Amino acid sequence: MSDYNWCHNPDCHKIETQSRVRGSGDNKVLRTVKIRSGSHWRQDSIFDFFCNQNCLFQFLNKFRQEVANIRPVKQPSETPIKVKKVKEQSYRYQYSNGQSNQVPYTSTRMTIESINNE
Ligand SMILES: [Zn+2]
Repeated sequence: MSDYNWCHNPDCHKIETQSRVRGSGDNKVLRTVKIRSGSHWRQDSIFDFFCNQNCLFQFLNKFRQEVANIRPVKQPSETPIKVKKVKEQSYRYQYSNGQSNQVPYTSTRMTIESINNE
């Protein structure tokens, strides 16, 4: 297995950056970026195949239909949850005559808990 990939954005070599310039004299080109594997932050991620987010999104936009066809979604999925209302004692500050006072109030917060159905 090779220890590098070429960036998979078909237009990577059209992006004008110094890092893509190769060749000498009057025979200069912009070349697709070579991605070396083993770079820690790239390992086992989409960035094994794309040199940066710009190239990733250019690819996704160009091939959006093909990407969607990899795993078509015909209906929504649902995750069972429990929604709990939690009352909390809290304070707000009230300013009057240059003084601030803590005023207690009860707030209600919604929390979502997952249900393990397995
Ligand atoms: Zn690229």
